[in-house]
Amino acid sequence: MKISLKRKLIFSFIVVILSSTIISGIISNYFINKKFNDYLISEQDTKIQNIISILQDSIKVNNDIRYFNKDEITRYAENQELYIEIKDLAKNTIYSSGNSHFTRRDNMRRMMNSMGKNSPMMDAKKYIEKEYPLKYNNSVIGYATIGYYSTSYFSLASINFLSTLNNSLIISTLIALLLGLVVSIIISKELSKPLVNITAATNKMRQGNLEIRLEEKGNTREISDLSKSVNYLADTLKNQEMLRKRLTSDMAHELRTPLTTLKTHVEAFMDGVWEVNSDRLQIFYEEIERLNSMVDDLYKLSKLEELNVNLNLSKLDISQELRKIVETYTPIYEKDGHLLLADIEDNIDILVDKDKFKQIIYNLLSNALKYLNSHGKVELSLHREDENLSIIIKDNGIGISKEDLPFIFERFFRSDVSRNKSTGGSGIGLTITKSFVEAHGGKISVSSLLGEGTCFKIILPIRN
Ligand code: ADP
Repeated sequence: MKISLKRKLIFSFIVVILSSTIISGIISNYFINKKFNDYLISEQDTKIQNIISILQDSIKVNNDIRYFNKDEITRYAENQELYIEIKDLAKNTIYSSGNSHFTRRDNMRRMMNSMGKNSPMMDAKKYIEKEYPLKYNNSVIGYATIGYYSTSYFSLASINFLSTLNNSLIISTLIALLLGLVVSIIISKELSKPLVNITAATNKMRQGNLEIRLEEKGNTREISDLSKSVNYLADTLKNQEMLRKRLTSDMAHELRTPLTTLKTHVEAFMDGVWEVNSDRLQIFYEEIERLNSMVDDLYKLSKLEELNVNLNLSKLDISQELRKIVETYTPIYEKDGHLLLADIEDNIDILVDKDKFKQIIYNLLSNALKYLNSHGKVELSLHREDENLSIIIKDNGIGISKEDLPFIFERFFRSDVSRNKSTGGSGIGLTITKSFVEAHGGKISVSSLLGEGTCFKIILPIRN
């Protein structure tokens, strides 16, 4: 069963408020009750000790158990709601305070019952009576019986106190529930509104609207992070969509040219306009080669997409390897009137897959060459940078526009300028280069200015 965020929050607030007030109610009731009981017991003990010492004091004065201030004892018994009886050694009653004052108390109890202020504690009225020896010069000369009802003025106060406490707990619970309800509604609105917006936006994206973007501000970090991620996802999807469309039209365009050439030639042969000769067959052959290399590229790419670039690592003096590559490329550059300069730091050994490393440098050097203007210049450098090495390949060729730059590592991406330059590329060289660099735990970045040149930088970790 799915429950809305609002209901969940309201439910949780109510549960927390109710359980905390019930628990604090139970705990405070228990401790207050206990404290009052302890107090009552010690109070009762003091009263009894008082009356015993009054009696013993008067025996001391008169040296006889029959002579003591009866009025004082009677007053005390009435005031303290005690029953007092004094007996001699033969257990003959000498004095009794009577129990008229208890009847008064019973009357009060009855009155309170009729007013509806009944309480179980008042009803649990228990008469307790105990006998205490009265002593003179350490020998027992008589007995005092003292009785009282377990409920007293103090227990009434405790009952009142507890009921006031419980009433205030109930009132504060009601107020807290009301506040909790308001707060949970406000919070749930604050949380659910952006979530509803995000759901609506993602639904629109699902239907193909990749232009939609979410507000990234807001004061809940997780929600603004989520909005940012959704926006990023939309950007990525939009770019992918753009690249996909571009790839389809590029592929159609690339395929159409050789196919059209082949078709027109075959038609000319069939119509007898042209005769088959080796030159014409050579054109056929070249067009078929072009188609073939495109299919090859597609195959390479599908391999690359399997994403598990297997590296055959071995220790390589990369300084020496780069010098060899530069030597190989220099005549190719010079043939077209370009310059290839190298600034290579000595003795840098790293663990690399030699073939893949060569492929990385070949791709970048041949791209630089492809996109040079006449009498261009390419500079290659190798240096240590802390725990890494950096290889920079910088050219002063046609450059890449700001709009195209973010996509050049995407598969089949070719800038409009380079396409016009009919360089014969298919736009996967850099995709392969990047995946090889990353497979070695490295990074490749590019900076470029249209019309001024391009600079590729590779960072590879030196692991010895
Ligand atoms: P391609 O086979 O088309 O060269 P790449 O993946 O190697 O494919 O390069 C992708 C695109 O990046 C190229 O079509 C070109 O537009 C741009 N590019 C790459 N290197 C350079 C460079 N050195 N100067 C200018 N543009 C470049």
